[in-house]
Amino acid sequence: SFSSMSDCPYPVMSKQEMQHYDSTDFPWSKEVEQLLKDLFHLSEFRALQLRAVNLTLSGRDLFLVMPTGRGKSLCYQLPAVCSKGFTLVVTPLVSLMEDQIMYLKSISVSAAMLNASSSKEHSKSVMAGMMDPKAPFKLVYVTPEKIARSKMLMSRLEKAYNANLLSRIAIDEVHCCSQWGHDFRPDYKLLGILKRQFPKVPLLGLTATATSSVLKDCEKILCVKKPITLTASFNRTNLYYEVRIKDSDNDLSTNDIAVVIKSRYKDQSGIVYVFSQKDAESLSSELQKRDIMAYAYHASMDPEEKSSIHQRWTSNKIQVVVATVAFGMGIDKPDVRFVIHHTISKSVENYYQESGRAGRDNNPADCIVYFGFSDIFRISTMVVMENVGQQKLREMVDYCQTIDRCRRSVMAVHFDEVWDEKGCNQMCDTCRHPKDFTMVDVAQHARQVVEIVELAVSMDERLTPLKLVDAWMGKGPVKRRKMIQVTTLSRLHAEAVIVWLLLQNYLSMDFSFTPYTTYVYMKLGCRAPLLKKQTHTVRMKMWTSGPGSARVSKLLNEITTKHSTKEGKRSVQSRGDAPVSKKVKTKLP
Ligand code: ADP
Ligand code: MG
Ligand code: ZN
Repeated sequence: SFSSMSDCPYPVMSKQEMQHYDSTDFPWSKEVEQLLKDLFHLSEFRALQLRAVNLTLSGRDLFLVMPTGRGKSLCYQLPAVCSKGFTLVVTPLVSLMEDQIMYLKSISVSAAMLNASSSKEHSKSVMAGMMDPKAPFKLVYVTPEKIARSKMLMSRLEKAYNANLLSRIAIDEVHCCSQWGHDFRPDYKLLGILKRQFPKVPLLGLTATATSSVLKDCEKILCVKKPITLTASFNRTNLYYEVRIKDSDNDLSTNDIAVVIKSRYKDQSGIVYVFSQKDAESLSSELQKRDIMAYAYHASMDPEEKSSIHQRWTSNKIQVVVATVAFGMGIDKPDVRFVIHHTISKSVENYYQESGRAGRDNNPADCIVYFGFSDIFRISTMVVMENVGQQKLREMVDYCQTIDRCRRSVMAVHFDEVWDEKGCNQMCDTCRHPKDFTMVDVAQHARQVVEIVELAVSMDERLTPLKLVDAWMGKGPVKRRKMIQVTTLSRLHAEAVIVWLLLQNYLSMDFSFTPYTTYVYMKLGCRAPLLKKQTHTVRMKMWTSGPGSARVSKLLNEITTKHSTKEGKRSVQSRGDAPVSKKVKTKLP
């Protein structure tokens, strides 16, 4: 099962004590069980839900870390219904509030919300309700801005607190408190006032994305003392993770996607994520030309059109939505069988989140990412303003170019977890189809690349990544071709070498701003001077079989043969401990 205690820095509760909270002999247990079935219409709790409910009903402060879609809301909605008074829920987005209120209304739980656009009368009646012992609202949703800016609200909360009507405080997306998190919101920083003013009220913080250091930060900001942290494992065991090499030829990659959709997912629902609105338009029409019911979805479509696409997809009238990441919030379709990324995500965390929209029903589903050379630079210019943007992108690229490790083990690091190959159970491409690779010394290649960059500098020219590959492949101006050594590598291998040199800091990126766009150029990285020494080696794992698309497989053997003929045996060292490729022929789900 998924459940596990987080590696809490201080032992607040023994394992036995914790297990006690999984039991059903609390005074409220009967009612809880009944509400789950009769009011929420759910047959059983998911991992950690009962524990969370029992802990918060026992009055403990709690941080609940669970992947999106697993059912965090129930952990405060259900306790709200079986407590006296009301639960205050802080949510960052009005749209999330509206969704929840609509859902609660559909199961006849009374709830209200307060946000910047609430009218005076509405606010007044909600606040009056908060002080009514009959508790006309079991849940009151507010934005953090409202807490931070409305003295009226604080004074009413104080009255309710003194009358014992404020039963619980739930803070959704609690990682927004921390500047270390990925989604800091300044108003969340002021929420410490709640615990300071209402110390007796149990607080429940919920998030899908916090690491232990972010949680530590939230704890301080919210002024909660030693909360209990429940962390569900993020390992989605039903998802199959795969990386395919994306050909720089657009048609080839589009065909590959179309073939994958038509062969593996006939009549099954899926999402294809693309980089831009333009890509959404063009790829969806290309897929349509290939007889796939695919429609674009992006932020600048008008709302009716968007909701119509969403609806037709939800009811399986459309097979595929080709979308930018704007398509995400509020998607709750359980039977998404595939999520294909036409372009890599900007971080592993984002990738996990986006691909995680597959297989919510816990049946097998596939997450495929197309890893293309030029996409790396499209994303790097997009995140150029973000503090840790390049670092996060690097990690995503590292995930994609991994060939000899379980994809899950690479991903797990980002959630402070360790997933070994057992936890993967052959549900990723590197575990299921171990690829042939050799350890190669690419120093000689690196020197060629460095020479090209240096030559460009001396000619006062700047090379985009694409121009660099072109030049190295001998496609540049004749003048230059005479001065450099043209590579014998195939284009895909040449690109792979350049990516590796970037990851290893032999190359780096240089950004240049115009009022309209950001350009990225290649320059020497901090380790480039090491190449001056002829004995310096740059080890790289090169695939010789395996990855993705049709064209790749044609090129598979080139690298080793070329290497061994041109540069002698020394440069191709097949490592003794390289895995013997055992071809596991398992059919995909
Ligand atoms: P989160 O906030 O963790 O992203 P939600 O609370 O929005 O997730 O719940 C996601 C979906 O899971 C909802 O449709 C909810 O009804 C469903 N759900 C929650 N708990 C259960 C359960 N015990 N059994 C089945 N479905 C559940
Ligand atoms: Mg939620
Ligand atoms: Zn694996």
